Amino acid sequence: MNNQTVKIVGAGLAGCECALQLAKHGIKVKLFDMKPQKMSPAHKNKNFCELVCSNTLKSTSLEFASGLLKAEMKELGSEVLKSAENCKVPAGDALAVDRDKFAQEVTDKILSNKNIEVVHDEVLTIGANDITVIATGPLTSDGLARELEKHIGQRLYFYDALAPIVDAQSIDKSKTFAEDRWGQGDGDYINCPLTKEEYEIFWKELTLAQRVELKDFEKEKNFEGCLPVEVMAKRDFDALRFGPMKPVGFKQQKPFAVLQLRKENLEASMYNLVGFQTNLTYPEQKRVFSLVPALKNAKFLRYGAMHRNSYINAPKFLDNKFRLKTNQNVYFAGQISGVEGYVESIASGLLVAMFVFEQLSNKNLFKFSTNTALGGLCNYLVSASEHNFQPMHINWGLMAPIEAPKNKKHEEMTKRSLNELKEISKLWNN
Ligand SMILES: Cc1cc2nc3c(=O)[nH]c(=O)nc-3n(C[C@H](O)[C@H](O)[C@H](O)COP(=O)(O)OP(=O)(O)OC[C@H]3O[C@@H](n4cnc5c(N)ncnc54)[C@H](O)[C@@H]3O)c2cc1C
Repeated sequence: MNNQTVKIVGAGLAGCECALQLAKHGIKVKLFDMKPQKMSPAHKNKNFCELVCSNTLKSTSLEFASGLLKAEMKELGSEVLKSAENCKVPAGDALAVDRDKFAQEVTDKILSNKNIEVVHDEVLTIGANDITVIATGPLTSDGLARELEKHIGQRLYFYDALAPIVDAQSIDKSKTFAEDRWGQGDGDYINCPLTKEEYEIFWKELTLAQRVELKDFEKEKNFEGCLPVEVMAKRDFDALRFGPMKPVGFKQQKPFAVLQLRKENLEASMYNLVGFQTNLTYPEQKRVFSLVPALKNAKFLRYGAMHRNSYINAPKFLDNKFRLKTNQNVYFAGQISGVEGYVESIASGLLVAMFVFEQLSNKNLFKFSTNTALGGLCNYLVSASEHNFQPMHINWGLMAPIEAPKNKKHEEMTKRSLNELKEISKLWNN
């Protein structure tokens, strides 16, 4: 085993998990964080591993992909997840935590670990030869963001404007037609037509629906060129019919308005609501977008969101081990790598620790297939479209489908995944 010290930049959810995993496996780590001298606009606690917004790590039920992801992480011995469980507060099926206790417990683990040296400093450069994990999150400091841009030769994405994604099987296909606008494309679009009466109801509810309050630092730009669909709708009754819902360019039908759905993955198991980036609350997204007849019973795999977010175009720049294709000593973990969410960030920290361990031991040990939620995340980062890459949280659509009765699918997928994980876990935890 190569005894090189690994540099981790950012002691957030991903950086702490990565550091604790490497340290547990006997690897020396130098963990940098700019706290408390410099705080991002959302971080307030001097401790590491801070939850900047809600205090929930979502459901633990295996009916949900986020429950399976946590079960897999537990199987592999996630340290941050263990701390979350220790700091749990009652919240039904959800794993909600006392955020201050949680940050304190993880910080104590880090500070008491002899293999981890903590450096309170803002990192502004990346050395070419050190093994470095960049885990500086969606609010990466400006200086480091500029340095990263020099390395990849492209701007980091700065604002996230996510449109919702629905499960392909939940779309009522009898109320759609397949055609690419102006005949351009390879049949990638499903169109959901609306009559004038249906559009009137949809438009009215959209303009009245409840939005998420933006934080002060997120108000600085009003997402020019990328307006939330509800803001556009408020401008004028016809604004959407001249925008994302324009009913032109089709031969098969002449609807009053049309919502287009675009394939989100190669398997066509998920579809994106084209041009529907939104800041509505999640329940309002479900209520209002389900007024489109074809989406009446749609299952939302991801809701839309708009917030400040620095992340790398993973399919373009990263390999399947979260490393820069152009410098395999530089890894990315957490939200900046293109995953979305607290649990996914912790998960990517765990994965990167395993991949760094492989590099240091000069062995190819861990293969995550899309039978697992962790493999589904890895696969998304390398196989999503480079053209309009957007961070993704875990959902069943990222995993390989399974032949099973509808009401048994998730149970069977869970069994399949945990079986596969046991083998990987033996290698990692022995
Ligand atoms: C405002 C906001 C709200 C969010 N709310 C939620 C939510 O409710 N639920 C959810 O699941 N996800 C949420 N997310 C998304 C995401 O899950 C979290 O941001 C999560 O904390 C990401 O984990 P991370 O480890 O990638 O980064 P972070 O946890 O943000 O950690 C990054 C660390 O890097 C440090 N750092 C940054 N730049 C430097 C530098 N140059 N040198 C040294 N240190 C540096 C920071 O101080 C910080 O400690 C939210 C994101 C934002 C921006």
